Amino acid sequence: MRLILLGPPGAGKGTQAKILVDAYGIPQLSTGDILRNAIAEQTPLGLEAKAIMDRGDLVSDDVVNGIVSERLDAEDCKPGFILDGFPRTIAQAEALDRMLAEKGVKLDAVIELKADADELVRRVIQRSKDSNRADDNPDVIRKRLDVYESSTAPLVSYYDKQELVRPVDGMAPVEDVTVAINSALGR
Ligand code: AMP
Repeated sequence: MRLILLGPPGAGKGTQAKILVDAYGIPQLSTGDILRNAIAEQTPLGLEAKAIMDRGDLVSDDVVNGIVSERLDAEDCKPGFILDGFPRTIAQAEALDRMLAEKGVKLDAVIELKADADELVRRVIQRSKDSNRADDNPDVIRKRLDVYESSTAPLVSYYDKQELVRPVDGMAPVEDVTVAINSALGR
C-alpha cells in the first residue's frame, strides 16, 4: 500500500499515519519529522531548514525531494509507505511521480483530510501546549495555512486527474477518521 496523506497543518495527518503504520505494517515517512530531527541534531540540513520552518515557509523542493528519494530507497519502504507532509507542491508531486516510475511502482491512494480553518488554528494552538514545536503558534499557524492554500491545495486537482483522491472528514473524532480512511481504502 502506497499512500499520501494530504491536508492542512493540524488536520490529523501525523495521528492517522501512526495508526495506519500499525494497521498496515508499512512505515510513515514524514518530511516534517525528518527535518525536525535534523534540527535537533544540528546537521547542515537542520541548520538550513530551521529558520524557514520557524516562520512557516516551505523548505526548498530540491532539499525535500532529496530526503524522500533517499528514504524511499530503504528496504522497509519496499512493501509500501505512508507519506505524511510530502508532497507539498506540484513540483514535489512531479518529482515523486518520477521516483515511483523509476521504481516501477504506483500510488494506491491520496487521502485528503478535509478540515475547517478556524478549528485548525484552535487545534494547533492546543498542540503547541503539549509540544515544543516552534512553528505551533497562532501567527505561524495562520501563515502555514496560507502556504497550504496557495502551494499544497492545488495537489488535490493534480491527483484527481490520476483518480487517486479519497476525501475524508478530518474534523470527525480520531477513531471515525480512521474508519473512514480504511473504508476509502476498501478495508
Ligand atoms: P509538518 O510537520 O509536515 O507540518 O512540517 C513542518 C514544516 O517542515 C513545514 O511547515 C515546512 O517548513 C517543513 N516541511 C515539511 N515537509 C515539507 C515539504 N514536503 N516541503 C517543504 N517543506 C516541508
